[in-house]
Amino acid sequence: MSHHPHETPILDFNPEPGTFVATLVQNKRITDPKHTQDVRHIDLSIKDPGFPGYYPGDVLSMRPRNLAKDVDDFLEYNGWTSIADRPLTIFQNLSVHFTKNEDEKEKLREFVSPEGQDDLYSYCHRVRRTTFEVLKDFRDVQIPLDYIMDLFPLIMPRSFSIASASLTAVQKQQQQQQQYQSGNNNGGSDSRAIHAVNGDLTTGIMDGELEWKVGLCVAIVNYKTKLWKWRTGVCTRWLKDLPSIEDVRAAAAAPSSSIEKSKTTETGLIAREPAQFSIRIQRGTLKLPKDPNVPLICIGPGTGVAPMRSFLHHRIYVQGATENVLFFGCRKRNMDYHYCEEWEQLEREGRLKVFTACSRDQ
Ligand SMILES: Cc1cc2nc3c(=O)[nH]c(=O)nc-3n(C[C@H](O)[C@H](O)[C@H](O)COP(=O)(O)OP(=O)(O)OC[C@H]3O[C@@H](n4cnc5c(N)ncnc54)[C@H](O)[C@@H]3O)c2cc1C
Repeated sequence: MSHHPHETPILDFNPEPGTFVATLVQNKRITDPKHTQDVRHIDLSIKDPGFPGYYPGDVLSMRPRNLAKDVDDFLEYNGWTSIADRPLTIFQNLSVHFTKNEDEKEKLREFVSPEGQDDLYSYCHRVRRTTFEVLKDFRDVQIPLDYIMDLFPLIMPRSFSIASASLTAVQKQQQQQQQYQSGNNNGGSDSRAIHAVNGDLTTGIMDGELEWKVGLCVAIVNYKTKLWKWRTGVCTRWLKDLPSIEDVRAAAAAPSSSIEKSKTTETGLIAREPAQFSIRIQRGTLKLPKDPNVPLICIGPGTGVAPMRSFLHHRIYVQGATENVLFFGCRKRNMDYHYCEEWEQLEREGRLKVFTACSRDQ
């Protein structure tokens, strides 16, 4: 039996204004393991008292981080390991002044000239080169340390349509008050757990603390380029292996003989704490009709079903609407029909009508 050191993967984010700390509750694959595409249902929990909540169709954004191994390789390549104690983000941006090699200078000049734009585009985008690969192509380029902050801007946040619905903050406060009152009437020692309308609307108020739950439906980006090189997405690769509360519980409950199979952090250590990171909520552009009697038709194939799930949960669980139709498309019913059981259950209950198009089954 081998022993693993433990590690706490709380991410050392610098909170930006307007962001809130989210804890990863669940990170579950919802496509069949044999299917080529890995799509996750992700649940986040937000307990910040200042969190204003969200509306159906809103978008959550998060700023991913480079994986430690990628940053280490990059620092080592540049000879910066002895001076860098924090990860750097990388981006394509090179100057002709950073190389003494005349061929490289000429190529860089060509790339920044108006005539060279097609070549530059093709060089960077056709095979989706990373900055690190660009640096390796231009071997004599040496980036002066003073230019690091100019050359490597922060990674941009990624947006994800929220795939769940929540009570509004006001409704939550009212529920909380009702809960306390009924608790007091009963002699009320138990201040835990309000009865949520549906498991996805809220995980409840635990010991008087408001908790918001946000669901996401995320496709992990992993594909082959025209040159048959594997490429992964910065945010989704980072998100894919973050430990959730469920992973941490499973690791704690697992017999030591199966400890190898439990979720590890990117450095290969067993996760003892779930991941936390900051998120921001942006207002969505689509709006639901106020009147729940107005019929609703949702069209959302693949992960495009995420905002539709948010709308449908709000209509069904908050407003009690029954005139709801969903058009969903995927490749194979038994491979990538997201939330299939949930839709079928709602159909049986007469609260939803679903039309599917599974292209590879036809
Ligand atoms: C408003 C909004 C809502 C969104 N909602 C969702 C959502 O609900 N679920 C979801 O999964 N995503 C959603 N996205 C997309 C999401 O924001 C990210 O763009 C996506 O997750 C990829 O991010 P990444 O950092 O993993 O990939 P990046 O590192 O940003 O790389 C992605 C790059 O890979 C390319 N690429 C991806 N797949 C292939 C392929 N097969 N062949 C060739 N090139 C490819 C892309 O064009 C892109 O250039 C949404 C985006 C927006 C703007």
